[in-house]
Amino acid sequence: MQFTPEVYHIPDIPMQPFIDADEIWDYLNNTPSSPEKVRQVIDRSMAKNRLTLEETAILLNATGEESIREIKRGAKALKTKIYGNRIVLFAPLYVGNKCVNDCAYCGFRASNRDQVRKTLSQNELEKEIEALEESGQKRLILVFGEHPQYSPEFIAETVRTAYRVKKGRGEIRRVNINAAPLDIEGFRLVKEAGVGTYQVFQETYHRESYATYHPRGKKADYDHRLASLDRAQEAGLDDVGIGALIGLYDWRFEVMALVRHTNHLEACYNVGPHTISFPRIKDASMLRMGNHYFASDEEFTRLVAILRLAVPYTGMILTAREPAELRNELIQYGVSQIDGGTKIELGSYVSQQKNLNLNRSQFRINDNRSLNEAIEELLQQGMLPSFCTACYRLGRTGEHFMEFSVPGFIKRFCTPNAILTLAEYLEDYAPAKTAEKGWKVIEKNMDELNEKMRNEVREKIDRIKQGERDLYR
Ligand code: SAM
Ligand code: SF4
Repeated sequence: MQFTPEVYHIPDIPMQPFIDADEIWDYLNNTPSSPEKVRQVIDRSMAKNRLTLEETAILLNATGEESIREIKRGAKALKTKIYGNRIVLFAPLYVGNKCVNDCAYCGFRASNRDQVRKTLSQNELEKEIEALEESGQKRLILVFGEHPQYSPEFIAETVRTAYRVKKGRGEIRRVNINAAPLDIEGFRLVKEAGVGTYQVFQETYHRESYATYHPRGKKADYDHRLASLDRAQEAGLDDVGIGALIGLYDWRFEVMALVRHTNHLEACYNVGPHTISFPRIKDASMLRMGNHYFASDEEFTRLVAILRLAVPYTGMILTAREPAELRNELIQYGVSQIDGGTKIELGSYVSQQKNLNLNRSQFRINDNRSLNEAIEELLQQGMLPSFCTACYRLGRTGEHFMEFSVPGFIKRFCTPNAILTLAEYLEDYAPAKTAEKGWKVIEKNMDELNEKMRNEVREKIDRIKQGERDLYR
């Protein structure tokens, strides 16, 4: 895909800062919106264009009921047109919560003496992975605090362990990372271990606010963090995830900055982020935060819809920080990946802890459904739960670009692979009631494939029923 470069105040130079807060505020304060302009911008998204800052500001400045309805409708239509009804499932695995930083919002911050510090031993790590595999998980994100113990070598070793450990028919086929930013050599090391996406959230793109929430520790350096994913790209790790922690500063500013970060990566490396995350601040042990910048559910819904329209080709992640009901709604507006069966206390996939103890976790989660319950609800909504990892493993990197830009890609690859991975799940892990619903959804999705593809998928499903695994195209 070719990107059209845009000209902003700070030119895009690899590894150099690119956020100009005055420029972003200038757009937000001086870009009038109207229902007609909103419609024009939505048309640009529907034609598969990533929006400019000015166009994004038109959507963010839309306050009338009609415009907001239009934005949500547009996001829904875009999501259906580009991504269909698939939702990719994954699980977070907290490996260690030691941390040298003191982020005001996080239960793991160094000054929080109430937090019980722990790093999984090799044996505990293996047991957690086995427990995850036994519930049917295929994709993990490993999460770490920032600590000298969690070196690139250590992170790389946990990635290798996750791929190596296999339980019954289970296996982990994709391992992503959310950890402190590394230097170029460090990113190279974790890439060699086979890491999928490396996520680093800027938390807030507003420099002064960033300084107040990150008073000390390595994370206090705004520019070093902002250039993290440039360093990943320089190391050849081109699959990166960006994000902002919603609630630290004005959410509209953060949306603009996420779009700016996207076009910085496009301009410098000709590849945008693989995923965007927009976690909302949740209660945490000894939380020291005001709620001045809290985004309401209504604003958060708008945020999701506007981001979907602004960056049509990028995966969007919504985690169990949000309650099930809201997640079910937001899925329609463009979320493409959710976690299921999430447990965030260290060691809790084995111990079955119920995510209740804030002194043993980073923040409170609000969706405590098991993986199977989440899958059932997705099926009920007519969604197609997917554990697909085919593109990444076939070297078709940048799969979102392909889904997005190669005509028919979803019908040829994504839907068949989603069906095949769901079929595996139904065979190996689902209770009878879920399996019954699941096979109905599979049949419905098969009907939408052409005859040749349908026959091929049916033949592969037969092989899955006879015990073959990991079939994809
Ligand atoms: N320690 C690494 C770092 O800071 O980059 C890994 C990130 S941390 C384990 C994962 C993310 O959780 C953070 O980047 C932040 O956005 C989010 N987070 C921290 N505290 C939170 C809270 N109270 N509520 C919701 N999300 C939070
Ligand atoms: Fe440490 Fe990350 Fe939490 Fe900050 S957000 S205190 S760096 S774990």
